[in-house]
Amino acid sequence: MKIGFIGLGIMGKPMAKNLIKAGHELIVFDINKTVVEELTKVGAESAESPCDLASKTKIMITMLPNSPEVKEVALGHNGIIEGVTEGSVLIDMSSIAPLASREIAHALKIKGVEMLDAPVSGGEPKAIEGTIAVMVGGKKEVFDANYDLMMAMAGSVVYVGEIGAGNTAKLCNQVVVALNIAAVSEALVLAKKAGVSPDLVYQAIRGGLAGSTVMDAKAPMMMDRTFDPGFRIELHIKDMNNVLETSREVGVPLPLASQVMEIMQAIKQDGCDVEDHSSIVKFYEKIANIEVTR
Ligand code: NAD
Repeated sequence: MKIGFIGLGIMGKPMAKNLIKAGHELIVFDINKTVVEELTKVGAESAESPCDLASKTKIMITMLPNSPEVKEVALGHNGIIEGVTEGSVLIDMSSIAPLASREIAHALKIKGVEMLDAPVSGGEPKAIEGTIAVMVGGKKEVFDANYDLMMAMAGSVVYVGEIGAGNTAKLCNQVVVALNIAAVSEALVLAKKAGVSPDLVYQAIRGGLAGSTVMDAKAPMMMDRTFDPGFRIELHIKDMNNVLETSREVGVPLPLASQVMEIMQAIKQDGCDVEDHSSIVKFYEKIANIEVTR
């Protein structure tokens, strides 16, 4: 069956390519025409608008920055809702607010369309490898029917509950990732200032309890001074906004997450908002007056 794919950025482009590799026919849309062209060169068809795309397929995937973009693409003028037919499914793989997922799902339901919120973790390298982790909310039978499709882009696809639960899981993921990057930053700055090679400290501790996927992905970037995204600080700030909003809604204080949010706000003022979130280390470097080069 033909799959619609909207949002061909850092994550969406390799995910769409993996679907083509797995043998799926694709129809794509993005406001950036260059990436659309890149996908048509590897066999995808292009759509004029989300509405046009929705009229030509029954399964649509979105991979967009945040809630406003997903709302616009799904429910706005020339959006999916204007072209979609009953029995279609929208799998939104963007990281957005759980409340926004529920609102979009509710609006689509009136048209007889089911929705899964299926955000991902793993970043660009895992999107390219096809090994991202997907956390999914929505009706279990819709999840089951689309499991193989999601697995064509992923290393794991886990059902976590009703619509919105996928994005709640993603917010939890983003708290762990942000705090972990901050912890790695603090430790490497401490090593450097204490006169011990940050690289050797990393090599020494990565196999023990302190080791993590985050450490392996981000410590080398910090030491090599390569802060190209990856995952941009501005997107992590967006996620932390959703984290703090949700934590207030449900009444959970998050003392550490709120501090890392302030750190990200601080480095944004230095122009790091378009850099990878490993640039959190620059905050610690600034206050300790040292760089964690190898
Ligand atoms: P990105 O900015 O690289 O890509 C977004 C794409 O959406 C762009 O190609 C943009 O042109 C397109 N777009 C924006 N508005 C649009 C609209 N109205 N209509 C059609 N296309 C539109 O972002 P990304 O890094 O690929 O992230 C996408 C989502 O995945 C975000 O929610 C992000 O938080 C999440 N995510 C990113 C990473 C990562 O490491 N980059 C990892 C996990 C999850």
